[in-house]
Amino acid sequence: MTDTPLSPLRKPDDIDAALRPKTLAEFIGQEALRANLAVFVAAARARGEPLDHVLLHGPPGLGKTTLAQIVAKELGVGFRATSGPVIAKAGDLAALLTNLDHHDVLFIDEIHRLSPAVEEILYPAMEDRVLDLMIGEGPSARSVRIDLPHFTLVGATTRAGLLTTPLRDRFGIPLRLVFYTVDELERVVTRAAALLQLDLTADGAREIAGRARGTPRIAGRLLRRVRDFASAAGTATVDRTAADRALNRLEVDNLGLDAMDRRYLMMIADIYRGGPVGIETLAAGLSEARDTLEEVIEPFLIQSGLVARTARGRMLNAGAWKHLGIAAPAGLSL
Ligand code: ADP
Repeated sequence: MTDTPLSPLRKPDDIDAALRPKTLAEFIGQEALRANLAVFVAAARARGEPLDHVLLHGPPGLGKTTLAQIVAKELGVGFRATSGPVIAKAGDLAALLTNLDHHDVLFIDEIHRLSPAVEEILYPAMEDRVLDLMIGEGPSARSVRIDLPHFTLVGATTRAGLLTTPLRDRFGIPLRLVFYTVDELERVVTRAAALLQLDLTADGAREIAGRARGTPRIAGRLLRRVRDFASAAGTATVDRTAADRALNRLEVDNLGLDAMDRRYLMMIADIYRGGPVGIETLAAGLSEARDTLEEVIEPFLIQSGLVARTARGRMLNAGAWKHLGIAAPAGLSL
């Protein structure tokens, strides 16, 4: 099977799929967002109308894809998924849109990476549910207008700021996902352990939750690795000590930072005396893409108060020096 935009191959991890909450009631955390979404879904259902277009934004692994699937399920409609970089040409998007069923949810992940030509097609599709296509070239070219089924677009992006204004303005329901609290992640881990039939104590779940960077995807991943270590060691019950030992072997520290996070902090500390240092310089020094630093690494470090993003560049806060166990250079005002 080839990897077409709608191919099921896009969801390769079966365990991941099994752990995904299927309803809004099962979805843990994001309380305000969930409560609002429940109201909008119920209202659309009651009126027999499609839900307004939804934009989900927030760091990776917080549940955007999961929520999009839940929205379709709660509305009782079909779900189609694709992603911005996969839709190469305007014609690809046209084919997707004309194949939708009435009221379907179309999920576009990484929607900030749509090409401008594809975005142009999306505007009238979202607003008036029509497709404007050009047929032919030169003087004989003419435009045809095709009516589309009523559908709901759910877009997901890690960076709402990268969306063009006309695209952002066409989403009636913009929703921002935030990092999860340790309590919420403890519930995520406990639920996943039950589904995996793993005997995990409450303090074991708390240990994993506290080191998961506020992110359910990471919590799930750590849980599975902890389970691997437990089965290799012949441990039937995973408690705090077993979880701690496994997480240390994975080089996940007590704040949940991994080796890459620490390299990032060490580079600013060691080479730039705590900063400020520009993002491009850091990306070059770490041999990482700037996008990865901005979308994956930095949000949690900033949220944890370890790093500050200033107009002159990135700077370490007092907590980062303390966490690294090195003294801040004398004369540095923190
Ligand atoms: P994103 O699309 O934001 O990158 P996903 O929706 O793919 O994130 O979620 C990543 C993983 O985390 C999935 O396996 C999902 O099961 C799990 N997950 C996300 N949010 C929750 C939640 N609120 N409760 C339980 N598990 C969650």
